[in-house]
Amino acid sequence: MTIISERLNQGTTLSFEFFTPKDAAGQDRLDQNIEHLMNFSPDFLSITYGAAGTSRARTIGWVERLSTRYSVPIMPHLTCISHTKSEINSLLDIYKLVGVKNLLCLRGDKPSDSSLAITSDFTYASDLVTTVRHHSEFDIGVAVHTEGHPESANTETDLLHQSAKVAAADFAITQFFYESEHYEKFTEYLYKRGIRTPVLPGIMPATNLDSLQRMSNLAGIKVPPKLIKQLQKADSSLKDRQKIAIETSVELSEKLLDVGAPGIHIYTLNSGIVPGKISQAIEPAIHSAPDHN
Ligand code: FAD
Repeated sequence: MTIISERLNQGTTLSFEFFTPKDAAGQDRLDQNIEHLMNFSPDFLSITYGAAGTSRARTIGWVERLSTRYSVPIMPHLTCISHTKSEINSLLDIYKLVGVKNLLCLRGDKPSDSSLAITSDFTYASDLVTTVRHHSEFDIGVAVHTEGHPESANTETDLLHQSAKVAAADFAITQFFYESEHYEKFTEYLYKRGIRTPVLPGIMPATNLDSLQRMSNLAGIKVPPKLIKQLQKADSSLKDRQKIAIETSVELSEKLLDVGAPGIHIYTLNSGIVPGKISQAIEPAIHSAPDHN
């Protein structure tokens, strides 16, 4: 089974996301961690892509590497913010040759240096979805932001744009969040509008307070004060911080599966131990989750 939306129709899924390492040591570590995580029978693996096309070759390389090694679907992320249509079409041709069937279509973050000019045929992720739809080979995933996209001044218009994008996609994956209510409210909003596209919650196990605060500021995510206090208290002990990350992620995942999430997508941050322990703990919940159809 290589099409993610078909897999989602059959039952609850588990998936892992990785970013492309920059050096040989990172590559070796990622190889080992993926090998470890394959023990938990993921339904697909996803590989990030640099917003300015910076990691283009690395993403293609990892998709090829993992596709030859494992039979599980490998989904590249694809950002459009700095690409022309012709560049995107060339990338799609490469992915067809490699046998890719699923793509996560994103806009990408604008460069923090606003003086940098962006040359692009695309403004929003939905423009990329329209282009990729012309290639019937691909199942299309999109990103959603349950707490609102940080650039949006107006929640209502953001929700309208996000829901139109989700309606045009085959499945969606959320930005990370730490309170299940955000997911419940977001999916309820879609449901009320007749949108039945599966929305996979993205779970990011937090072991490091500084990076958690940096990433959540960028993504506009509220971190519960309880989690901040727990991580502060465990500051000097990696083992304690990992335990917190595992416990909070398992608790959140179980809640989400309980309210009908169609699966769990783990932002691994290229680690093996913590995502592995979470997968092991939620395995019974993944298999006993209520039918999401
Ligand atoms: P869009 O859907 O285009 O939304 C961006 C903004 O535009 C929002 O504020 C939205 O409300 C607004 N908008 C949308 N449509 C319209 C419209 N028609 N008119 C007016 N406003 C509109 N980044 C990377 O660089 N590489 C990755 O690999 C990557 N992977 C990711 C994976 C996941 C699961 C997630 C959640 C995010 C990922 N990101 C990645 C980050 C993502 O690129 C950023 O969050 C980016 O800022 C927005 O991308 P988007 O696809 O949600 O954009």
